[in-house]
Amino acid sequence: MTLSLQHQLRQQLVETSCRLVETGLNRGTSGNCSVRFDDGFLITPSAVPAEELTPDNMVLMDGQGKVLSEGKPSSEWRFHCDIFRQRKDAQAIVHVHSVYATSLACMNQDIPPFHYMMAVAGGDSIRCAPYALFGTQQLSDNVLQALQHRKACLMANHGMIALGTSLAHALSITTEVELLSQQYCQVLQLGKPVVLSDEQMADVQKKFKGYGQWNKK
Ligand code: 13P
Ligand code: ZN
Repeated sequence: MTLSLQHQLRQQLVETSCRLVETGLNRGTSGNCSVRFDDGFLITPSAVPAEELTPDNMVLMDGQGKVLSEGKPSSEWRFHCDIFRQRKDAQAIVHVHSVYATSLACMNQDIPPFHYMMAVAGGDSIRCAPYALFGTQQLSDNVLQALQHRKACLMANHGMIALGTSLAHALSITTEVELLSQQYCQVLQLGKPVVLSDEQMADVQKKFKGYGQWNKK
């Protein structure tokens, strides 16, 4: 029996949510994820722990954020909806409250290019979106701005978001940004890091084209 695309994506959302908890990127009911489908998207339900998620309790929404299936969507459906509307390159979105990215987000500062792998997030910095109450249009507006020409951003006093061409890709960027955040937290204990120049980061971006499974030419 072949499962419909919608069912496969519902299943992938469950698997991604479980993976986020297994790897410690999320705990309890923190965070959420979504995947583009048709003219809208599928999103995890609000405040349900990963172990209780099933393909059937994922929520289908249209491109305007109208609920088309049973269940209550994540309280963050606004930024998921707005990212899918404005970023044609986004097929999937992962939001986490991982320890190191969130610690840096509580400093309300961008991460500078202290390591060449910063290019994974799409540019030479990972911006921190200014604080706004969770689930609000203001938070969505702030996040959209911080994500300009980027695949990830921090959210002040809250967490991190990554977008990708699939859930696996968004999960991979989330994992990388959390590692970079851990490294940067460590570096800050030592003092002020040497950061890479615009030219050095441009060279990394060039070299990344065609490198690895996510950048096939
Ligand atoms: P939801 O369970 O409603 O998705 O909320 C979790 C969260 O991380 C809010 O920012
Ligand atoms: Zn959150």
